[in-house]
Amino acid sequence: MADKEHTNPERMEKIVSLCKRRGFIYQSAELYGGLNGCWDYGPMGVEIKRNLKNYWWRKNVRERDDIVGLDGSILTHQAILTASGHVGGFSDPMIDCRTCKARFRADNLDGVECPRKPSRRPGHGPECDLTEAREFNLMFQTTVGASAEEDDPNAVAYLRPETAQSIFTQFKNVLETSRQKLPFGIAQIGKAFRNEINPRNFTFRSREFEQMEIEYFCRPEDALRLTDEWLELRLRFYEEIGIPREKLHVLDVPDDERAHYSKKTYDIEYDFPFGCQELEGVAYRTDYDLSRHQEHSGKPLEYFDEETKEKFIPHVVEPSAGCDRTALAVICEAFDEEEVTDAKGKPEVRTVMRFSPRIAPVKAAVFPLLKKNAGQVRIAREIEASLRPLMNVFYDESGAVGRRYRRQDEIGTPFCFTVDFETLGEKGPSLKDTVTVRDRDSMQQERLPIPELAAWLGERLR
Ligand code: ATP
Repeated sequence: MADKEHTNPERMEKIVSLCKRRGFIYQSAELYGGLNGCWDYGPMGVEIKRNLKNYWWRKNVRERDDIVGLDGSILTHQAILTASGHVGGFSDPMIDCRTCKARFRADNLDGVECPRKPSRRPGHGPECDLTEAREFNLMFQTTVGASAEEDDPNAVAYLRPETAQSIFTQFKNVLETSRQKLPFGIAQIGKAFRNEINPRNFTFRSREFEQMEIEYFCRPEDALRLTDEWLELRLRFYEEIGIPREKLHVLDVPDDERAHYSKKTYDIEYDFPFGCQELEGVAYRTDYDLSRHQEHSGKPLEYFDEETKEKFIPHVVEPSAGCDRTALAVICEAFDEEEVTDAKGKPEVRTVMRFSPRIAPVKAAVFPLLKKNAGQVRIAREIEASLRPLMNVFYDESGAVGRRYRRQDEIGTPFCFTVDFETLGEKGPSLKDTVTVRDRDSMQQERLPIPELAAWLGERLR
């Protein structure tokens, strides 16, 4: 297992501050002091999440013929979560401190500070007085319908704690309408809610978050092999969005730490600046969920194999990723500071977000060299307008070009196009209708003909 203690709090502080300053992530309800464990994604953050979800959907649904999509409701019938075991058992052990009234997750006290003496762990401060651990259910409960009495048990519903359960309960409908044969999967991206006892590490442990989950249904004898295949596919996905393999670690979860229904679980972990932590779980969940729903609903959820004439409950492999955790990993991985020399030869620190172009929130920036030059502005605006339907681009004409580059570096824009005097043909016909393209990482520039820009970008953003 990777080193969970290897941390870099200074780097994390810089990342959190850049996220706010450049519009990636803000504290939810900041105006009113903040809502703990909830986050709002700003103009840059929302693009990153959208790019991540689109790429995940493309790889797992659009490019495969054996996986179909679902978008289930967030409000979840009590019976579903009773059958799945969440109502009775989706809890974490919690302890209270009688002195300071703070609450902590009993099984996760590493790195947690005592509110009175932050240099110590809870229980290790001079005045700490901890209770015994007791179970705290993590689900948010609500009441459905205007006429419902507050204590009417039939009106109780929950905000789903995972997206998976609507996949299991719609398994039969999807099977019938999509006419899939085993093995096949159902994929879903959506919000999930957990009333975490100690939300922390920025967005890593939130109370509201998004999951990207696949339930891949199969014959029992294929499940372990498929679990290994899914692990490989998922590792490749992270590499494709800019997280190098050496920063990813696979934890083969030991028997006594796996969910009781799982015969194999891998956690994919990433070296965050606050330690090596889980990004995704790839779990073989057996036939547990479908069996439970069949039992509780009294409706058959079996699969009939036309060839072998067998009827059985499919087994399932579940790759379950967190979109917010992946976004955070991508942001942490992209953050870089390097020493460069400015136009006057003075050393300065360049902050650059080295996002994979696929995930970068802004794909290209377009500048006229001089904002007072009407010809340059007109062409720059035309380039901007031609690219807008294809991707997120940004037009900027204010300040020196060097400063504009730095602003784009901070949000990770991979390419900047500048319209200059050459573009207008003022330095000879050979460079007319070309622009400079400046590469974010190498800071090198080359010239490209304007009509080729869209195709040139398309190749680099695929
Ligand atoms: P943890 O052990 O960190 O609480 P978990 O094992 O309970 O996570 P799962 O139930 O396997 O998590 O959920 C699948 C994925 O959903 C996780 O790998 C993670 O990416 C994401 N996820 C779970 N809980 C949270 C949370 N509180 N905030 C953000 N993402 C989460």
